[in-house]
Amino acid sequence: MMITALPAFADNYFWLVHNGRDALVVDPGDAAPVREALQRQQLQLAAILVTHHHADHTGGVAELHKATGAPVYAPATERMPAPCHPLRGGDRVNALGLAWQVIDVPGHTAGHIAYFCPDVEGAPLLFCGDTLFSGGCGRLFEGTPAQMLASLDTLSALPDDTRICCAHEYTLSNLRFARAVEPANDDLARYEQHCMVLREQGLPTLPATLANERRINPFLRSREPAVRQAVQAWRETPGDDAAIFGTLRQWKNEFR
Ligand code: ZN
Ligand code: FE
Repeated sequence: MMITALPAFADNYFWLVHNGRDALVVDPGDAAPVREALQRQQLQLAAILVTHHHADHTGGVAELHKATGAPVYAPATERMPAPCHPLRGGDRVNALGLAWQVIDVPGHTAGHIAYFCPDVEGAPLLFCGDTLFSGGCGRLFEGTPAQMLASLDTLSALPDDTRICCAHEYTLSNLRFARAVEPANDDLARYEQHCMVLREQGLPTLPATLANERRINPFLRSREPAVRQAVQAWRETPGDDAAIFGTLRQWKNEFR
């Protein structure tokens, strides 16, 4: 099974998984790079998986569906540009001979879902759209801090070796913020160096791995004493874990 990130727009990735004959694509915001990759590798599109309704994730769905007849899987509660199989948390999708579990991850959008397969040739694979990024998380356009925190808690409980396929290459800017939050985190400093080398070579920093994200991603670490203290120092926040998480997200929004 091949797992590749098709770069698109300024910083999107459309994830393409294939077995040499059939392929699935996740969040194709534009049909052209997907059709080009399918043609070049002589692949049949077997499924289109969508995590949420934003145009940079759905812009190519109708054209790809029309051109290939591939079924479209998408969140039940979000508006989609093509007829689709509506999914909710707990549902399963079979594609490429693999069983994908649907996880509800509201926060970035209200109906956002993720796709998880516990074993793709030896390790789990997660497509999480704009919920979890390496070193960061999605903006809260439609959800509350409590919802996003709960969604990230769900993802953080997946196995250590889960490969995380995020929909954007935001890693370096996320890590610059993460370093402001946790300047004493050595794992974070090392990971930033590693990612800088990858980007200098024009390579994606993804997939990320969950074990590493738990060590370096402030949005998976908002209950850590060092992160809480940094948040409180930036803007005093009375209240529970969700309130602290909300202030952390706000800090990132304002960070330059
Ligand atoms: Zn989005
Ligand atoms: Fe996006």
